[in-house]
Amino acid sequence: MKTLVWVEHDNASVKDATLAVVTAAAKLGEVHLLVAGSGCAAVAAEAAKIAGVGKVHLADDASLANALAENAAPLIAGLMDSHDAVLFPATSNGKNIAPRVAALLDVMQISDILSVESADTFTRPIYAGNAIATVQTSDKKLVITVRGTAFAKADATGGSGTVEAVSGASDAGISKFVSAEIAKSERPELTSAKVIVSGGRALQNSENFHSIIEPLADKLGAAVGASRAAVDAGYVPNDYQVGQTGKIVAPEVYIAVGISGAIQHLAGMKDSKTIIAINKDEDAPIFQVADIGLVGDLFKIVPELTEKL
Ligand SMILES: Cc1cc2nc3c(=O)[nH]c(=O)nc-3n(C[C@H](O)[C@H](O)[C@H](O)COP(=O)(O)OP(=O)(O)OC[C@H]3O[C@@H](n4cnc5c(N)ncnc54)[C@H](O)[C@@H]3O)c2cc1C
Repeated sequence: MKTLVWVEHDNASVKDATLAVVTAAAKLGEVHLLVAGSGCAAVAAEAAKIAGVGKVHLADDASLANALAENAAPLIAGLMDSHDAVLFPATSNGKNIAPRVAALLDVMQISDILSVESADTFTRPIYAGNAIATVQTSDKKLVITVRGTAFAKADATGGSGTVEAVSGASDAGISKFVSAEIAKSERPELTSAKVIVSGGRALQNSENFHSIIEPLADKLGAAVGASRAAVDAGYVPNDYQVGQTGKIVAPEVYIAVGISGAIQHLAGMKDSKTIIAINKDEDAPIFQVADIGLVGDLFKIVPELTEKL
């Protein structure tokens, strides 16, 4: 089977999210990549070095500069004449483009896969991850999004793929890129961080969130996350949210501070290798998934912990 992987990038370098998708694609067969962007030849060169990659299709066109799904989808649908499956990371871009490709090919999309069981059978979470469905498709062309935390990352180096230019990209004329506001942070990115410190409603306000959570995160070189309650209350911006309607993370260590452990939060972090929970309520559901639990007042425990580190 010939697979095509959508490479997530910023026209300068390959984003980490791509690597897990390469691993998933390799379970199906030969791995080709698509680098669609503008002025992105360096990305294609970098992508060609990913272990196990055969060919990198480079579509370099102004209309692809900002990954507009309306422009990318027809290009990908065209490439599916010579590929059997296309795989995207389940990122905002992937989730935006994949359904359009599926519609153009008149096939169903297989979303957020956790494993490849065979060439036509996959597992995926349902009910916020409380059940795992095994799905089998009879479609000739597969359109798949991949949950990055479920697959090991392919090595970013060691491959020797060839880069081939693809023509045919054009502006569909139905959408326009206006602007992007990208939060800049010195801390690691939430979805690829090895350690995450997350805060919940218990922090009470934005000042406490910053003065309690951030020093601990900085000591540990960790990313900062939050529950939806903390985000909704305006303690931190939306892109900090971990959970069913936020980011799905699986770091080595996840520290949940003043978070109760609602199932929608657990859906985003329960696959973390070691979960540490700090909560004053010993019956809080977070302790059911925690490897290490500290029962007590976070306003006392966290500053003490930060100081001792
Ligand atoms: C459709 C849907 C989607 C959702 N998606 C998400 C999502 O993606 N992510 C998400 O997080 N939530 C999501 N939610 C919301 C979720 O149901 C919970 O409401 C939310 O996770 C609660 O956040 P919390 O744990 O910070 O707050 P709470 O549930 O209020 O918990 C606060 C915790 O802090 C503890 N505490 C209080 N004071 C202290 C103290 N001084 N020291 C130590 N501990 C203390 C309390 O004992 C309590 O356990 C979703 C809900 C719905 C309906």
